Amino acid sequence: MSSRTYNAQYYQNHKLDMDATAIEWRQKERKRLIKEFGGKCIKCSYDNSIALDFDHVKNDGWSDKKRHRKNVIFWVKQNPERFQLLCKNCNWIKEYHKRRLLSLCRRQVQPKKD
Ligand SMILES: [Zn+2]
Repeated sequence: MSSRTYNAQYYQNHKLDMDATAIEWRQKERKRLIKEFGGKCIKCSYDNSIALDFDHVKNDGWSDKKRHRKNVIFWVKQNPERFQLLCKNCNWIKEYHKRRLLSLCRRQVQPKKD
């Protein structure tokens, strides 16, 4: 049996345990990082960690997703300076303004039809 087959089989047999361990690790790391980032939204100071997000300061989250499909915790640990803590409301408001700006830019770029 090749090591790849063995690993795949091992994962199938221990999938639930491994997934639970990974989830537990991510939750622990998320909590620790939220504390490191000040524990509250930088815009409105909301501090319920359930509704806090690690937001890409420069809206460049797409580049992380393009490179690898990793959890945001991985990227926050790699480059903490690229992130800020926002609550869901403030994050959504930021997203709304970003989309509105993009839509305005697209309209300006469209060639005029006579
Ligand atoms: Zn907020």
